[in-house]
Amino acid sequence: MTEKCIFCEILAGKAEASFVYRDEAVAAFMDIQPVNPGHVLVVPVRHTAMLSELNEEDGMQMFRVAQRVAAAVRATSKLPSAGVKCEGVNFFLADGRAAGQEVWHVHLHVFPRFAGDGHHMRFSPNYFKPSTRQDIEQTAEKLREVW
Ligand code: 5GP
Ligand code: ZN
Repeated sequence: MTEKCIFCEILAGKAEASFVYRDEAVAAFMDIQPVNPGHVLVVPVRHTAMLSELNEEDGMQMFRVAQRVAAAVRATSKLPSAGVKCEGVNFFLADGRAAGQEVWHVHLHVFPRFAGDGHHMRFSPNYFKPSTRQDIEQTAEKLREVW
């Protein structure tokens, strides 16, 4: 790590966070500004700014832990003592500024959703223009070229 990274500070115990889980490769802690209560960030322990720098083993472990976080969030919603409200779960990962990444340490957002929570994804008008089969196949071909 060259510049100060808030997630590395949290992982080193130099900044406060509420941890849900931690192992050698991955940690999960609560987001400071939750989309809905129960919003958790799953991060690699080794500082990794971008998804392209993340090794596949750590990526696999991140997804495994995120699945467990999702199960925990759903389970707490069923507690008699009123846990977090959860009728569905979103995973979200912003890789790069254009994708909305603000913290330069890879993190997978896991957050509960419920009907009427007020969050919406906005699409540009382009989304509503239908793509042809040929357009879609051409794009797939480009991806196969660089695989
Ligand atoms: P991004 O936009 O990069 O995908 O999301 C960064 C996330 O990190 C945001 O949801 C933000 O609330 C969270 N975040 C930023 N600073 C801190 C912090 O100091 N502690 C915790 N727990 N979360 C943070
Ligand atoms: Zn970091």
